[in-house]
Amino acid sequence: MKKSRNKKSRLIITLLPTVIIFIIFIWFLMTIFEGEKPFAELTPLPEYINKSIAFNFMASDGKMGLKDVKVSIKQDGPAIPLLKKSFPYKGLLNKNGIHSFGEEFTLSPKQLNLVQGQANLIIEIHDFSKRRGGDGNLTILEHKMIVDTIPPSMTALSRSHNVNIGGSGLIIYRVSTDTRESGVLINNMLFKGVPCTNDSQPGIYLCYFSFPCNLKKDTVLYLWAKDSADNEIKKAFHYHIRKKRFRKDKIRISDRLLDAIITSFSPDIFAPGDSNIEKYLFINRTLREENSASLRELCQSPIKEKLWNGPWLRMKKAATMARFGDQRIYYYKNKVIDRQVHMGVDLASLARSPVQASNTGRVIFTQDLGIYGLTVVIDHGQGLATMYGHLSSTDVSVGQDINKEDIIGVTGTTGLAMGDHLHFGFLVHGVPVNPVEWWDTHWIKDNIDRKLSMIEKLAEK
Ligand SMILES: [Zn+2]
Repeated sequence: MKKSRNKKSRLIITLLPTVIIFIIFIWFLMTIFEGEKPFAELTPLPEYINKSIAFNFMASDGKMGLKDVKVSIKQDGPAIPLLKKSFPYKGLLNKNGIHSFGEEFTLSPKQLNLVQGQANLIIEIHDFSKRRGGDGNLTILEHKMIVDTIPPSMTALSRSHNVNIGGSGLIIYRVSTDTRESGVLINNMLFKGVPCTNDSQPGIYLCYFSFPCNLKKDTVLYLWAKDSADNEIKKAFHYHIRKKRFRKDKIRISDRLLDAIITSFSPDIFAPGDSNIEKYLFINRTLREENSASLRELCQSPIKEKLWNGPWLRMKKAATMARFGDQRIYYYKNKVIDRQVHMGVDLASLARSPVQASNTGRVIFTQDLGIYGLTVVIDHGQGLATMYGHLSSTDVSVGQDINKEDIIGVTGTTGLAMGDHLHFGFLVHGVPVNPVEWWDTHWIKDNIDRKLSMIEKLAEK
């Protein structure tokens, strides 16, 4: 029994080095033949490329380390290298070699003479593993892009564009079919054009725009378009801006009026500790601005079809209490405390008068809108909308189709209103314009109808 145990121990002692060497050998093989592919990352990965773009390239290999990296771009011809790097084998099992690598490089379609159309970015990375006949593990990544460096083309089709300050204009233009967004640009404000013909005449757009009354007369208007690759075109067109005089209107604010106005708003909207004047200025400035922004936002994706038809209705038997563009100067104790511009027409009739829709369209808003109180907004298509403020009640709802002359509510004093009246606003892509033009059938005939019939003729061709 003792003898046999000795024999066993001796056997283990003689075999142990062999076993250890064998294990080390296996470990060595597993290390140098590791099968983990290198990791690669490229940012950004744009769908389109229209100009020089900087890429950030990252590669890493935690095991045997990086042997080489290559980034190239390929169109129909041979691939063009953008980044190429080989790394030396350093130390035992490449312990001191490169395990992670990052570099920025620039791709310029112009310098590389890339042609318009598809281009593939190709990334290839090897590591120092002995796999694949000693070539190493290989990571290949491919990213497809479209090279597009040519801006869309754009031509005005309508000729005369006479626009009053604070008034509306209409332009018909043609753009190339790669256009994603287009319209009339004033400063940084875009009035978006809408496609207006069938598939046989693609690329014909109409765009209602305005020359807002707060802009200087020499502000320049452009036609503007952008394609999917973000190539932009800005083009001049013929127009004439007509000066318009607006009335000055002094408004005296008494303490009694101040109280009445402030109590008609929820106390939650004011900052704690505000004086009555501060509260009033918050309503007249901040809330007014917020309400304008909301209207602009509301009208950003108008119904593309023309829903309106014929003359626009003005509230019957109503007196004009305030006009569009009135320069209001607010006095408190004989001191000027604020200046604002009135962005609609105030119409007063008997208290609680029914309010009719000015034209055919679809209701897109029926809510409280700050200074305008209970408000209904109707989308008439192609960027035109009307708003009805200070209502005491309404029974129309969002999404409801409305015919011209349909009753949409009842006048009142909600919001910032001194007495029962209707605030009627006409909006071009959410920007308030002078409604008087739209009540004038001659103006519509000369400035709108003629251009719309031009589209019909184009569509027939
Ligand atoms: Zn008003």
